[in-house]
Amino acid sequence: MVDKDWFDGWYRPARKSPSPHFNARPQSEVSLLVIHNISLPAGCFGWPYIEQLFLGTLDCQADASFADLHGLEVSAHFLIRRDGELVQFVSCDERAWHAGVSSFEGRTGCNDFAVGIELEGTDTSGFSDAQYQQLQQLSRSLMNCYPKIVKARIVGHSDIAPGRKTDPGSGFDWQRYLTAL
Ligand SMILES: [Zn+2]
Repeated sequence: MVDKDWFDGWYRPARKSPSPHFNARPQSEVSLLVIHNISLPAGCFGWPYIEQLFLGTLDCQADASFADLHGLEVSAHFLIRRDGELVQFVSCDERAWHAGVSSFEGRTGCNDFAVGIELEGTDTSGFSDAQYQQLQQLSRSLMNCYPKIVKARIVGHSDIAPGRKTDPGSGFDWQRYLTAL
């Protein structure tokens, strides 16, 4: 594909922070976009801990709540911070580890074919204008570069792991997001 925004699955406008937590997509298909939220510690913003978690460098003694995260190998393709900063951890051509046990339209293992975007926040925090702007711009570029990602194939983590995951939560304005695409 030829797209000036992308090189080998890396989005040029993002700050690149390569994670070791990825492997190959079994069918090289990219056809689903999954929106998440994350904060570390829960409800606290602006700390380096999310990035450290995805890089496998988090000191699990830095906060009592991190004990559960010991040995956890997770990642996402992107993180959008509260100020709109965009960080990319894994090439979109590779499989990041964000969805866990999941299914979309009867197909399990969504990491195989999904791109994962984490918004720094909680289910009820709401998200900043800068985050929506960055998310919309990134989503449009993803849809250009990976044409199998269409509006009907943009979901929340809660949609593909119901009963297990609740993000991005009630504070995420789907209508605002999708109408801008
Ligand atoms: Zn999630």
